[in-house]
Amino acid sequence: MTDKKIIIAANFKMNKTHVEVRAYLNSFFKKLKELNININDKSDEKCIETVAEIIFAPPFTALNEAYNIIKENIEFGHLVKLASQNIYFESAGAYTGEISIEMIKAFDCLYTIIGHSERRWILNESDDLIAKKIFAVFNYSKKKDLSLIPILCVGENLDIRKSGKAFDFVAEQLDRALSYSKNNLNSNMQNIDDKLMDKNIIEIDELIVAYEPIWAIGTGAPIEPEDGEKMHKFIYKHLNNNYSIKNCSVIYGGSVTEKNINTLMKKEHIDGVLVGGASLDPQSFFNIYKFAVSK
Ligand code: PEP
Repeated sequence: MTDKKIIIAANFKMNKTHVEVRAYLNSFFKKLKELNININDKSDEKCIETVAEIIFAPPFTALNEAYNIIKENIEFGHLVKLASQNIYFESAGAYTGEISIEMIKAFDCLYTIIGHSERRWILNESDDLIAKKIFAVFNYSKKKDLSLIPILCVGENLDIRKSGKAFDFVAEQLDRALSYSKNNLNSNMQNIDDKLMDKNIIEIDELIVAYEPIWAIGTGAPIEPEDGEKMHKFIYKHLNNNYSIKNCSVIYGGSVTEKNINTLMKKEHIDGVLVGGASLDPQSFFNIYKFAVSK
């Protein structure tokens, strides 16, 4: 696994109209400009140690607006990317209320969140459905040569954590989410490496795993950084042992704020964060970004 990158992602969930997203992003880009980040000119990097990719996942109804504003601020196009909060695995048809990969790619989404715990537990998304979505994303990227990168959410609830089975549970969630790809992706691949075929492992270009313990989401009680580090290291090891992933990142989600971002980001295997509540205010999310990349 190579080319590690820092990712600071905002999940707006079911918040903000397209008008509110416009106001939010205008305010956010203004702050970015004031920070005067110019990664090409090292002399301008006053307090910035590294540059993180910033991802916004607004509601579907605001994707068009967000896409336009990112285009208006094209100087930050390499830094700021769009994600959808979901996709459906079929490409088109009679699936009322769903959204296709083509539809979100039309707004230049580079990422899509898949298997968020709110979709798993409130909307009853099954492991099987999540696995089909993951496969659809990999398959789309392979066929169209247009990148779409899944942000696969995994994480245990409090009972599982207390029972000491969090690691097994997360490993199983990962395997289930990748199972459909494992069974179908290899057979479609051309020039498949014999070694991969022997091990029956799939070759994936890029995957972001968001480790989001359910008990930490929206509770104001994030994981202890040391415990987060243990789980992230475990996820890396599990993926490394069982899959071939060219670029893999493991980010943390669950009550991340400007107050705790620094200690989380100090951990070697925490590559970034997925932020819900604290991303809704542009100043607060901007501070999270700034603290994540500052010395
Ligand atoms: C989330 O739901 O992805 C999340 C991380 O939420 P919050 O930051 O509000 O805990």
